[in-house]
Amino acid sequence: MPPPTPTVWTVRALLVWTTDFLKTKGVEAAKLEAELLLAHVLQTDRTYLTMRFDEEPTDAERAKYKELITRRLAGWPVAYLVGSRGFYLLNFDVDPAVLIPRSDTETLVGEALKRLKPLTAPAVLDIGTGSGCIAVSLAHQKKDSHVTATDVSPDALAVAKRNAIKNNVADRMTFLQGDLFAPLPAGVTFDLVVSNPPYIAQSEFAELAPDVRDHEPRVALDGGPDGLAFYRRIAAAVGPFLKPGGSLLLEIGWKQDAAVRALIAEQPELELGPTIKDMGKNPRVVT
Ligand code: SAM
Ligand code: GLN
Repeated sequence: MPPPTPTVWTVRALLVWTTDFLKTKGVEAAKLEAELLLAHVLQTDRTYLTMRFDEEPTDAERAKYKELITRRLAGWPVAYLVGSRGFYLLNFDVDPAVLIPRSDTETLVGEALKRLKPLTAPAVLDIGTGSGCIAVSLAHQKKDSHVTATDVSPDALAVAKRNAIKNNVADRMTFLQGDLFAPLPAGVTFDLVVSNPPYIAQSEFAELAPDVRDHEPRVALDGGPDGLAFYRRIAAAVGPFLKPGGSLLLEIGWKQDAAVRALIAEQPELELGPTIKDMGKNPRVVT
């Protein structure tokens, strides 16, 4: 049963009603999502909504809000509906060509920044940059770095470029389209290579949350039959692209630590470091 309708649709009334409604539909973060969608319609930030509690949105705004709620309940992720997602310290444009940045991936950014801090003008490579959330965050935090970002998807690269411009780091970034290391010029080397590659095993697609499985790009998720295809290829090919003493950081799925460490251990020129855990205490970044 939908909650009772109020007589005057103020911002407050809309939020209260929608939060209840989304809850009845089983949406977990109902209040947050109700706020994010309304803030988007009113072209404001979620944190400013409280100051507008007594305002009455126009009929057109209410109609737009209703449409977004309908699409949300049909399974569309909120980040695609509002066109952006916060990650690390910045805001990123997103569209269905890119994976929505995950908070788990902030673990990789934190570890990368630790390693970049003592270096002067480091060269960084991000493979499979997607929205550019990792690459742009690194360029933004380490002001004398140069970050090269690659992706096989031209549509994803277009989003990443937009995010670099929007966050004022485009002048210290290079974007290259192609398969893994293929688009890099011969002989180029990096102090740090990072990647959050597709790592879902094809056999596990059926178990993915429907929002992810049905709306996020398959090319961003599909890690081959066992989910390890990209780790295998990156481990085998990264050697010549690392400067002496350079680092490789790979985000992994929480069950993949042993398998990815074994793949790295097979490469004589790579030396295994610790696996870094995420906030949920799961193994998340192999170094
Ligand atoms: N780095 C972003 C992040 O952390 O949110 C996106 C990560 S997403 C899991 C993987 C990305 O790798 C996607 O953007 C996808 O287009 C890209 N990709 C898939 N296959 C690739 C390949 N063969 N070479 C380069 N990039 C690839
Ligand atoms: N963390 C993503 C998910 O499980 C997967 C991202 C990836 O394949 N790198 O939804």
